[in-house]
Amino acid sequence: MEILVQQNTNLKALNTFGLDATAEYFVAVDSTEQLEEAFGFAKDKKLAIWVLGGGSNLVLRHSIPGLCIHMGIESLDIDGQRVQVGAGLNWHQLVTTTLNQELFGLENLSLIPGQVGAAPIQNIGAYGIEFSEVAVEVNAHMIDTGESVTLARSDCGFGYRHSVFKAELRDRAVITSVVLKLESEFQPRLEYAGISNFMDANKLPLSAQSVSEAVCSIRRGKLPDPKNVGNVGSFFKNPWVEEDLAAALRLADPQMPMHKQAAGGFKLSAAYLIESAGLKGLRVGGAAISDQHSLVIQNDGKASFADVLGLADKVKQSIHSRFDISLDIEPRIYPD
Ligand code: FAD
Ligand code: NAP
Repeated sequence: MEILVQQNTNLKALNTFGLDATAEYFVAVDSTEQLEEAFGFAKDKKLAIWVLGGGSNLVLRHSIPGLCIHMGIESLDIDGQRVQVGAGLNWHQLVTTTLNQELFGLENLSLIPGQVGAAPIQNIGAYGIEFSEVAVEVNAHMIDTGESVTLARSDCGFGYRHSVFKAELRDRAVITSVVLKLESEFQPRLEYAGISNFMDANKLPLSAQSVSEAVCSIRRGKLPDPKNVGNVGSFFKNPWVEEDLAAALRLADPQMPMHKQAAGGFKLSAAYLIESAGLKGLRVGGAAISDQHSLVIQNDGKASFADVLGLADKVKQSIHSRFDISLDIEPRIYPD
């Protein structure tokens, strides 16, 4: 089917922050053929391309020049432990479908909003598991050449909330599908105290379904639901600090949570730093630090792009002057 390109499309309903943004051109694609057509349209008109998945990790400016491509390829092919998934499938739908087929490995990643195609971008992670652990390869179309490429996991540059798609391939590749290898036997990963405490308290049996249920319940209790309150989850990455700074911080506050990293240094909790700095509830215009989770910036309904970035700047400055730590923003800013 031919693509239908719209002009001046409002994206408020397509980003979970609920920011009022307008795309100069907008097209939804549900096949690689349609994606290629969209590339052709952008090339003819010399338009920049912006890919939009579920819009749950994006901070949109009011006006977005160029062509916004909404990914809608929703294929799913399960062959034993090998699972090939279209980029447009909802992530949590993939988690529940695979669990129902007794394929394991995604349970800790339950209820992460967004699409499968965005999972490699920041190497989504939760409760001690990252996308990279189940990834085999990522298929993409290159924007400049239209060429279709396959990247093996080892070529994806996966790191903590990071990948090659945020670096060398930033804005150069549109992911069309991913291939995963899941486990046929459940191997519990309960190192995050939140899950095991919840399972014990609720007397849940040790199964993949229970872990998924626990993760969903904890998330529903802890995080504002984007359906009711605009947000993009964690606004800042958890910072990594050297041993020296960690020691100084520990001396000043022996309660400060610190997680030793295999590569050296410590990962700190950005949420704890924000609370310690007394920033919970801080607001700029319609944007506020969530009362529910201090790593979340929420839209009280009328927040503008400037409100959100203004608040983020205040938080960054305050954390820097108090702890000598630079916080990095996690979601992508469009256009940046
Ligand atoms: P979008 O927001 O649409 O896009 C994000 C980035 O990916 C953009 O740069 C976009 O261009 C790019 N992109 C998307 N699809 C493609 C594609 N097919 N090809 C190329 N580029 C593409 N994240 C975590 O890691 N762990 C969590 O536990 C977590 N919890 C969250 C909880 C809440 C309540 C919310 C709102 C967000 C949370 N997030 C979490 C962030 C977010 O859900 C993930 O980053 C998710 O993968 C984003 O998916 P999306 O489809 O919404 O991507
Ligand atoms: P939590 O379990 O209360 O833990 C607080 C922080 O400490 C987390 O950010 C986590 O880091 C870290 N942590 C806890 N136990 C750890 C361990 N055993 N080893 C290493 N680090 C540990 O966190 P939460 O806020 O409720 O979130 C739970 C999980 O969901 C976390 O993994 C978090 O990243 C993820 N999440 C992500 C987003 C997002 O938008 N990116 C939003 C909500 C939740 P990590 O964050 O590095 O895991």
